[in-house]
Amino acid sequence: MANFQKPKGTLDILPGESVLWLYVEDIIKKQAELFGFGQIRFPTFEVTELFNRGVGGSTDIVQKEMYTFIDKDGSSLTLRPEGTACVARSVLENGLYAGAMPLKLYYLANFFRRERPQAGRSREFWQFGTELFGSENAEADATVILLANSIFNKLGLKNVELKINSIGCVKCRVDFRSALKEYFANNRELLCDTCKGRMDTNPLRILDCKSPSCKEISKDAPKTTDFLCEDCETHFNKLKEMLNGCGVKYEVDTNIVRGLDYYSKTVFEFINESIGAQSTVCGGGRYDGLIEELGGQPLPGVGFGMGLTRLIQSMKDENLLPEISTGANVYIAPLGSRAASVAFTLAEELRKKGISAETDLCSRSIKSQMKYADKTGARFVLVLGDNELDSGEAILNNMQGGEKIKTDLSIDRIIEIVSA
Ligand code: ATP
Ligand code: MG
Repeated sequence: MANFQKPKGTLDILPGESVLWLYVEDIIKKQAELFGFGQIRFPTFEVTELFNRGVGGSTDIVQKEMYTFIDKDGSSLTLRPEGTACVARSVLENGLYAGAMPLKLYYLANFFRRERPQAGRSREFWQFGTELFGSENAEADATVILLANSIFNKLGLKNVELKINSIGCVKCRVDFRSALKEYFANNRELLCDTCKGRMDTNPLRILDCKSPSCKEISKDAPKTTDFLCEDCETHFNKLKEMLNGCGVKYEVDTNIVRGLDYYSKTVFEFINESIGAQSTVCGGGRYDGLIEELGGQPLPGVGFGMGLTRLIQSMKDENLLPEISTGANVYIAPLGSRAASVAFTLAEELRKKGISAETDLCSRSIKSQMKYADKTGARFVLVLGDNELDSGEAILNNMQGGEKIKTDLSIDRIIEIVSA
């Protein structure tokens, strides 16, 4: 038994699993690049105030989920709980707003939230995120939605459904908020305790609550879309028109509001009901007020975060994960010390030419070397003993087909055989 265990709510992603992550991440990167998004990397921790301001004091994240610590100089730092505030900070700090607009950024990063661990919810988790700055147009909203959608399509997912909504701008929200407050005040006793508290701070969040009774009451609550000003309504119609034009299926769901304070106009989620209670694979929306909130000149933005654990779970669910072998192309099994040093050099020569190759590192018997080659999924095994060294000829055993191919010991010939 090990003396240590990983902290609650964290994950070990082991080689058998990480190859699948790499496969998915590779597709994600290619799609992001196809849409002209450039990768951004930012610190794992930021000053706490960034999240207080940029995520918002009434959110679950700021109220109870942040890993905050006091550094030795007395400053308060927080492990990043999400990416949008970090990217916005970086855009401002590095003056990216003065460059080519719109600015399209993406990240693959880990985030930290002190939540109750369960399937699809951990305390450290990974997201693919995008942020598009500098366009108020619905074309921008449609673009990020198309990017997310293209990833689900490329991965072959069928069970993921897109839901969109518009929560309007600051102007339309005033009337909507009071209509909501009035409605929920009349049903107060049916709300969960958390939502009773949300009535004053952020009544919109009640629409997003997962408790069955709140869900039930929310069904008949006033709808965001009935309160949109002309501008917001046109924007939302334009978005729908463009999604229709590109053949993207969606449903308008007025209960989608998103948890973060900074959203305006478009909000959306990609949902996969078949992976359990934590069914939101991707969530995003527009946040036109965020950059100003952080002290910059007004700069509109829209983006999303896609949870990689839920994405990979969705793929497992639909049996879409490929069999990926990580075994070496050639395993060289030496017999005796003279062969061992030839094998060691030969393996390195092969790797220099881009052929994955391994050899014995433990002075093991041929039997246990064969076991190792088999367990790790090596494609070919080349047995090298004194006889082979003297004759300059050896046998390449094809581990998958069982075929034996005679070869001389020249690198080129070996490469020719194992690359076929
Ligand atoms: P949820 O309603 O599931 O708590 P959220 O609104 O807090 O989601 P966002 O902050 O929008 O989520 O994050 C975007 C995506 O990141 C989510 O849709 C989900 O796929 C993923 N995600 C969020 N929190 C976690 C977590 N604790 N563990 C695993 N994935 C997560
Ligand atoms: Mg959450």
